[in-house]
Amino acid sequence: MHRRSPRTITVIAWLASALWFALPALADGPSARTAEELHAAAETAATGGAKVRILIVPGHEPSAGGTAFGKLKERDLAAQLGKDLQRYLAADGRFEVFLSRDEHGWDPAVAAVFASRWDEIDAWSQAARAEWEALVASGRVAEPPVPVRHRKAPHPMGVRLYGITKWANENGIDLMVHIHFDDDRASSRYAGRRAGFAIYAPPPQYANGPASLAVAEKLLPRLAAFDPVAKLGFVGRGIVRDPQLIALGRWNSAYPASVLTEYAFIYERQLRTQSVRALALDDMAYRTFLGLRDFFYPGEPAARATSVLPHDWKTSVRAGSDPADVYALQTALMVDGDLPPAGKTKSACPRNGLFGPCTSAALKAFQAKYGITGEAGFAGAKTVAKLRAF
Ligand SMILES: [Zn+2]
Repeated sequence: MHRRSPRTITVIAWLASALWFALPALADGPSARTAEELHAAAETAATGGAKVRILIVPGHEPSAGGTAFGKLKERDLAAQLGKDLQRYLAADGRFEVFLSRDEHGWDPAVAAVFASRWDEIDAWSQAARAEWEALVASGRVAEPPVPVRHRKAPHPMGVRLYGITKWANENGIDLMVHIHFDDDRASSRYAGRRAGFAIYAPPPQYANGPASLAVAEKLLPRLAAFDPVAKLGFVGRGIVRDPQLIALGRWNSAYPASVLTEYAFIYERQLRTQSVRALALDDMAYRTFLGLRDFFYPGEPAARATSVLPHDWKTSVRAGSDPADVYALQTALMVDGDLPPAGKTKSACPRNGLFGPCTSAALKAFQAKYGITGEAGFAGAKTVAKLRAF
């Protein structure tokens, strides 16, 4: 950085403050990230300058909120996925990663905002709302359509979510990545029947909308490579533009780009047993990392499309085998293009650790393709030897 004379600095400071006061009170719109600015930040980071600043926000609170299936809690899954994603992003070296909380508590910086600036956050979010409503009323911005109604965040949780946004605005965060798991059941006693993910991004009317969509569009193919898009009417092909989620910058309140992913339904089988759950969450995190890298650094090939492979299958794999071995088998069958079997969808045949008719049909196709005989209905030594190459 070159030096400037004190006088120049004074003039710049005066101009900056004059500009600041000339803007509307919140000044959110002009400061929101554009895709070009995000790519410029990536370029700076790649050439040894300041890193791209990413805030990972595991959904809900350390000890409250979110859905559950038996003892499995959404907020704990989100915390684990958040830590896995932090690890992948940090290992890349070009990202400075912040995690709003883990399973035990809030990050101290975020907690400090909640502790000391509660009324300020509340007033700020209400002012953002008033400003946005005035903008819509003036006819300068069209009211964004509401694709789906969400359960409203209870007041203190809502204020904390706005507090996280405000902290991100004030700390130069480039991108917020929100992590959730979905639920669609009227009764929480039984598993539902859906599978898959959905990505939420702010609407084009919000200042952070276009950059957020550009990120979401890179995330989509990485997640869709192994998981179905959730079959919910409003989800469409996988990305929902939603003006109501505080996490995405409701009332145009966020400077950073922001994406929120519902990674799976809470009752999906791959989340139920500990060994498969660890593989599934790590792979969700890994593919999220790949999607973000595809956005910031397009054209860099990934050595592997999933963190599940290579896998060390210890024995033959068949119906009733260790679900982690089945899950890895299904992963290899997906990479090879055998799962889902011809005529089936990922939704009907999800990768879930259960050796059922879908896996059986896919395995049969795999063995036929590679001329493996004598192992009908299971993956024996010859099949496993071939699988190890994936
Ligand atoms: Zn949630």
